[in-house]
Amino acid sequence: MLSYRHAFHAGNHADVLKHIVLMQLLDYFNQKDKPYWAIDTHAGAGLYALDTGYAQKNAEYQSGISRLLPRDDLPVSIAAYISLVRQLNPTETLSVYPGSPWIAQQLLREHDQLRLFELHPTDSQLLGANFADAGRRVKVQNIDGFAGLKAALPPAPRRGLVLIDPSYEEKQDYQRVPSALKNALKRFATGTYAVWYPLLQRHEAQHFTAALKNIPVNTWLNVSLTVRTPNADGFGMYGSGMFILNPPWTLRSGLQDVMPYLGKVLGQDSGAGFVLEGGDGPAPRS
Ligand code: SAM
Repeated sequence: MLSYRHAFHAGNHADVLKHIVLMQLLDYFNQKDKPYWAIDTHAGAGLYALDTGYAQKNAEYQSGISRLLPRDDLPVSIAAYISLVRQLNPTETLSVYPGSPWIAQQLLREHDQLRLFELHPTDSQLLGANFADAGRRVKVQNIDGFAGLKAALPPAPRRGLVLIDPSYEEKQDYQRVPSALKNALKRFATGTYAVWYPLLQRHEAQHFTAALKNIPVNTWLNVSLTVRTPNADGFGMYGSGMFILNPPWTLRSGLQDVMPYLGKVLGQDSGAGFVLEGGDGPAPRS
């Protein structure tokens, strides 16, 4: 039984990092005319109300997207992300936050396709409704994202970007992700795979990037943003990361300006900082 609902967390610091990286990946794919598929294995609802309902509970967006909106010193790629968020919020009030499917849909071209998997019945229904007018290039399925990924690979145009963004509500996700990636690489070795992960003090999370680094692949890039000192009680998410297999060669330099800026604006105490490693040559093994 899934209890996680992304609406509680929409627009938080983790969404900000994930969606900025996602946009940089899609920008790179758009540099060539050749069509591609974007596959979102854990798509969520696609759009989230911030001014009512779940998002109001802890108002996590206030320490995420809300910190960036008023800034007038945004690096170019963050400005592009903010302008997408502004498309949904034309007045000063921030009332809607875009999920990864909506962001991808804005960047995809006519001849590209979007495959969306979401297992939670309510979020899947919302996702379907949010994309009801999207036409044939977007396909929404209420199925397990790992199974959906297996069936979708290799994508027909042999070009593809996969976002794997589980909630890690079930600790088995820490094993499912590396195993799904190994399987996916067998079916589609040249795909780009971007995995979101939380920074937590629990054992599984601490060992997760080491497991990802051991997947045999030409290149990986790991980027993480710590927003605060981990809690003394051992609980709570103190940041998040994105681990990318077969990243575009441009990604590392694209993140070099962005990460110090995010650390400065989203950092909550002196424990804030970032890691940017790999992405500039054959993958080292840990
Ligand atoms: N990618 C979304 C975004 O950035 O806007 C957020 C996704 S949220 C972190 C994770 C989603 O995965 C939740 O909506 C949850 O219901 C869904 N989920 C959990 N297990 C799943 C599975 N096995 N297959 C597909 N979706 C799943």
